[in-house]
Amino acid sequence: MRDGSADGGRAGDAPAGKATVDLDRLASALTGQDPAGELTRPGPGDAVDGVPALAVARPASVAGVSAVLAEATSQGLATVARGAGTALDWAAPPERADLILDVTGLGRLVEHGAGDLVAVAEAGLPVVELLETVGRVGQELVADLPPRRLGGGATVGGALATGVSGPRRLQRGALRDLVLGATVVLADGTVASSGGKVVKNVAGYDLAKLMTGSYGTLGVIVRAAFRLHPVRPARRWVVATGPLPDVAGRAREVVASQLAPAAVEIDRPAWSREAGVAVLLEGQEAAVVPRAREAAALTGGEIRTVPPAWWGVLPDDDGAGAVPSAGADRTVLAKATATLTGVGGLLAAARAAEDTRGAGVAVRGSAAGVLYVAIGGRDPAAVAGVVRELRAVAPSPRDGTVTVLRAPRDVREAVDAWGPVGGLDLMRAVKRRLDPGRNLAPGRFVGGI
Ligand SMILES: Cc1cc2nc3c(=O)[nH]c(=O)nc-3n(C[C@H](O)[C@H](O)[C@H](O)COP(=O)(O)OP(=O)(O)OC[C@H]3O[C@@H](n4cnc5c(N)ncnc54)[C@H](O)[C@@H]3O)c2cc1C
Repeated sequence: MRDGSADGGRAGDAPAGKATVDLDRLASALTGQDPAGELTRPGPGDAVDGVPALAVARPASVAGVSAVLAEATSQGLATVARGAGTALDWAAPPERADLILDVTGLGRLVEHGAGDLVAVAEAGLPVVELLETVGRVGQELVADLPPRRLGGGATVGGALATGVSGPRRLQRGALRDLVLGATVVLADGTVASSGGKVVKNVAGYDLAKLMTGSYGTLGVIVRAAFRLHPVRPARRWVVATGPLPDVAGRAREVVASQLAPAAVEIDRPAWSREAGVAVLLEGQEAAVVPRAREAAALTGGEIRTVPPAWWGVLPDDDGAGAVPSAGADRTVLAKATATLTGVGGLLAAARAAEDTRGAGVAVRGSAAGVLYVAIGGRDPAAVAGVVRELRAVAPSPRDGTVTVLRAPRDVREAVDAWGPVGGLDLMRAVKRRLDPGRNLAPGRFVGGI
């Protein structure tokens, strides 16, 4: 144990009803397998969306993750994996977070097969470092993390666990489509890989895809392999603004056109009756320029060599100026999906909800129907009302969804964060199979998973 807590021992003075932790056993399980691993008592920053931890483990090897997780589970502890912590308050807060399993000690780029356009990285590697390394030979992971998150050190494991996607998912797919395999440690310490060695209790699952967007509820990601792409040499953005229905229609036309845009993004600032659309064209200079002209003709936009300031930035990020006025700590972040034709309805519903609920609603994201929404009202009932009105136009898992990613406690109490979800029974069955004791981030995922 580090941090002046060499006494270790039982944290037996935990309040009634809370888990107790045998720190000595945890520490020796960890360092017995992983001498460079560390177990520390939690500091002020060691909480998960307000849920305090009893201990923080920072293994430096897969064996260490396995040993400490097996021991934590045998003690009945709830474990929450942590990367850089940039999205630790996304999804529901866990019921308990007894042990924080910090994976930043596993931070190596294991392999860069430049010829095969594949990179294998440990979960704690910051995505920005992966990008820098593969960028030296003109390759990239087309993940489009927003600059502030990248700068915050968002990790490979956290990126997968949150499963979010940026502008270029339109053409290249989301992270889920770019991940080729993963190595995961299950709650009981089993190390399982997709692709290579098949472990009996996970046979039949595509683990890497299962982990994408699972918010650490199924296993701790320790390693992942990704498909890379060559960086395309030339880029142009075509940017237009106009009334909401107009912009939605133009964006839809570009998505459906022969122009093969790398991305088509929409930005509707709070309280605005207008929206912006930005089309990204990538490729060889000689081909990109005429395609940009065509896109400009189609959208009535202007051609630029740099993206608009809001490109790839979450709408609750102050930097881009779209934040409604609630203040950063009160702004609710949601993710809305819609069919291609449903995006216009979503934008209109955002505008209408502002009038009925008195809360600003900024919407930004892919015209193909994966958008982020920032809601700025101070009144939880008003914010919940906005979410309900948006859900009314994205009424089913098939036609679209609105899920609350980040929200203050009182808003979470006023609204179901997930809304209608398809396949919940199946998801519960997967959880039971992989984490039967609910030891991994219990309650964080839809349906209390
Ligand atoms: C416009 C836009 C585009 C974006 N594009 C992308 C994108 O393309 N790809 C992408 O990945 N993200 C994207 N993001 C999301 C953003 O970058 C996430 O904040 C980031 O991926 C989280 O990484 P982190 O290391 O900070 O995770 P943390 O905040 O530490 O953790 C996030 C969640 O993952 C869990 N977790 C962390 N590490 C592990 C692990 N090793 N095993 C199991 N669970 C773990 C945590 O418990 C928590 O639930 C985008 C966001 C925006 C706004």
